[in-house]
Amino acid sequence: MTIYSSGQQSIAVPKEEWQNQLVNFVNSIEKLEEYINITDEERSVLKANKTIWGTTPYFASLMDPDDPSCPIRKQVIPSREEQVNVHGMDNYLVWKENRDNEENRPDTIARQYKDRVAFTVTQNCGIYCRHCFRKELVVDGNLELDFNVEDGLDWIAMHPEVRDVLITGGDPLLLPDEKIAYLIERLRGFSHIEMIRIGSRVPIVMPQRITENLKSILGEYHRVPIWINTQCNHPKELTEEVAWAVYDLMSCGINVGNQAVLLKGINDDVETFKELHQKLLKVRIKPYYVFYCEAAPGIDHFRTPVEKGAELIRDALRGHTTGLAQPMAVVATNIGKIPLMPDYYIKDKDVREYTLCNHKGQVTKIPNISD
Ligand code: SF4
Repeated sequence: MTIYSSGQQSIAVPKEEWQNQLVNFVNSIEKLEEYINITDEERSVLKANKTIWGTTPYFASLMDPDDPSCPIRKQVIPSREEQVNVHGMDNYLVWKENRDNEENRPDTIARQYKDRVAFTVTQNCGIYCRHCFRKELVVDGNLELDFNVEDGLDWIAMHPEVRDVLITGGDPLLLPDEKIAYLIERLRGFSHIEMIRIGSRVPIVMPQRITENLKSILGEYHRVPIWINTQCNHPKELTEEVAWAVYDLMSCGINVGNQAVLLKGINDDVETFKELHQKLLKVRIKPYYVFYCEAAPGIDHFRTPVEKGAELIRDALRGHTTGLAQPMAVVATNIGKIPLMPDYYIKDKDVREYTLCNHKGQVTKIPNISD
């Protein structure tokens, strides 16, 4: 309940459900104990933990109370393995987002491509993912950025080659409605901006945030389309609440895609990977990318071999389920995303024909028609 004074009277304004989710954020041992039976190991790591951690009560309620290897638990609760960093790169985000480039950009603008930029507007999240590639900024607090959005908007205004802005964070949908409305209205006012993307885990970890007011803010500006790319990593995260949130977003013209992160021990087996992508479509989320878990420091334990994403697409999805369920496996780097495709399709090629192979190993031939 928020109390504010209006003239002579104090007026109590009930918080919306999503604001209560933030007020009751699960970020202490005491609060976590309301959801799970904490193991001795988890308790010991949490007591020594110096990083930002936690999630919403809604997402915490999806944790298995008795299984420390629960995929939701592993994304939320810090582990001892985070202190082991053999392969993670120091100053990863500076490298990844080209922040030491000579182009004079404000902190809010990250750039890897000519026609699109990432606009970082907050460092707050609805879950502090233990695998986050931005963990130096949002989880560890080792990197400080100036979140002056006016500087970012001014920079975008002066760069007519930018067609497409990804509003990111942290999680932009944690901002108040007025600020989201302002950002979108300003971006839409630039004649060179053709589309706006929002990167947000909110539809998955706090579906209560998709309110009527937010819908009217996002949907009102449909002439410059908005795409929300969320991050769902395990089928357990796809609940009835998420399904309704996505339906509500789509009902006001917002497209919703998924950018999963491939995480060892969470979604890197054939059955889970297949179920995740089939279930995404059941709730109308289009699988878009599967990201190789990046070389940020302290997340070695989540990382698979680079080839794993393409192998899973080959073994779990391609030919095994509808083409709509197929994301692209990519490695995100400082020079952009590098796609990794299963490599079995073309078995052979000569001047007369191609020999093609399907997911069952069956081969067929089609003519090689020269240019
Ligand atoms: S919600 Fe996004 S930015 Fe926040 S910790 Fe998770 S992956 Fe990182």
